[in-house]
Amino acid sequence: MSDQQEFDLIVIGAGSGGVRLARMSAEKGARVAVVESRYLGGTCVNVGCVPKKLFVYGSHAGEDIEDAEGYGWSLPKEQVRFDWARLVANKNAEIERLNGIYRRMLENAGVTIIEGNATLADAGTVVVGDQHYSTGHITVATGSWPVIPDVPGKEYILSSNEMFYLPQLPRQAVVWGGGYIAVEFAGILAGLGVETTLLYRGDLFLRGFDGDIRRFMAEEMQKRGVNLRFNASIESVENVDTGYHVQVSDGSRIVTGLVMAATGRRALVDGLGLESLGIDMTESGHISTDRHFQTSVPAITAIGDVIGTSQLTPVALGQGTVLSRRLFGDGQGEMDYNSIPTAVFCQPNIGTVGLTEEEARKAGHRLRIYRSEFKPMKHTLSGRDERALMKLVVDDRSDRVLGAHMVGPDAGEITQGLAIAIKAGATKAQFDSTVGIHPTSAEEFVTMREPVSPPS
Ligand code: FAD
Repeated sequence: MSDQQEFDLIVIGAGSGGVRLARMSAEKGARVAVVESRYLGGTCVNVGCVPKKLFVYGSHAGEDIEDAEGYGWSLPKEQVRFDWARLVANKNAEIERLNGIYRRMLENAGVTIIEGNATLADAGTVVVGDQHYSTGHITVATGSWPVIPDVPGKEYILSSNEMFYLPQLPRQAVVWGGGYIAVEFAGILAGLGVETTLLYRGDLFLRGFDGDIRRFMAEEMQKRGVNLRFNASIESVENVDTGYHVQVSDGSRIVTGLVMAATGRRALVDGLGLESLGIDMTESGHISTDRHFQTSVPAITAIGDVIGTSQLTPVALGQGTVLSRRLFGDGQGEMDYNSIPTAVFCQPNIGTVGLTEEEARKAGHRLRIYRSEFKPMKHTLSGRDERALMKLVVDDRSDRVLGAHMVGPDAGEITQGLAIAIKAGATKAQFDSTVGIHPTSAEEFVTMREPVSPPS
């Protein structure tokens, strides 16, 4: 044991939520340390949003090259080559750059960065290696970790973590799961020319998204050559000379070069010592907090993926901001979880904000549904058989737009603006009186005049 150090706040985990909280608190004059065991920036920067989106761009570039043909460019197929190692190396260089930015951002704010694995000795002491650090407050922001189901051959199954560092691309791949990470990786692999099968135990993937969007996306993915197999799960994986034999629950067997599971994530609380401090956990294994991120132990709060709210970077960032204000600012403010917009970076993208049709009906709304399906202008000349879908869910009585959903190019970009309108309580009449931007796909959201059927 060595010197006691005094902090006002020790944040455990330098991910999206932890970095925001540490930086903002230090800027308010608090003495802050952040402990990080792996990588500055956490999941999002290192093995999540950022490298994923770079891979999506990389995967989509192949289509752009093909699409250029219709615009007069000649690119002989035999001259088009893709170098996976170069994409991974360039991605790694970018992540290192971001790690450096995070370090400088924390240091410039006056945050002490402690590298290592943190354990909570008591409600005011954090231990890293043989150092004990005393503090007035502790925030756990340790994120989440992929879970691979316990099947024979589990050791051959990769998670998203390893996918970012694959030494080479296989010829065939099986992606197991039906959430957004599975769908995005299936799209990335297929776009890079890997023969891809997606296995999901339910009837249709992307549970929780609007039903029309889910069905439409399934069609689009199949058009791109992804073999979608629903009501199918992996029973075992066997390592053979040529790759892997995957035993599927429907009795079939797939021979493949790679198996990835994106079947869920658990709260990352290993080794923190939460049990001995008496911190309550939820049934799903997350840290239980109240709406001010307070755990069952005074002086310990928790934010981000580890508390089981929507596992999204902007949610963790928002929580970090609110908590910093509560601890070292005016003490006011609450996180607003209404109308959180989100995108799935599959190809084409999904963008969604507000209630799905199913959720709105369940909540008892009488609805007008507006839907538009069309071929994006770009593909009139590219010849690609890709369609876009846009949908508005409107409360018939108040005329309020409850939800906006889309599949199509740049859906994530388009949905961000719509989210402001929906959050502000915009009505369909206000959408209608908004002048469109022509020619764009997005203008469809302000030109859908007739509901698909009478209000119901
Ligand atoms: P994290 O960012 O996970 O940070 C936690 C940090 O704590 C980690 O750096 C970890 O090393 C550290 N840590 C853990 N235990 C200890 C310990 N005992 N001591 C010290 N340090 C510790 N979200 C989006 O909004 N958009 C996306 O497009 C998106 N894509 C994603 C793609 C993938 C493949 C994945 C896996 C996630 C994606 N997410 C996306 C989710 C997003 O990354 C997370 O919601 C976000 O990173 C959560 O932030 P956090 O601060 O809770 O935890």
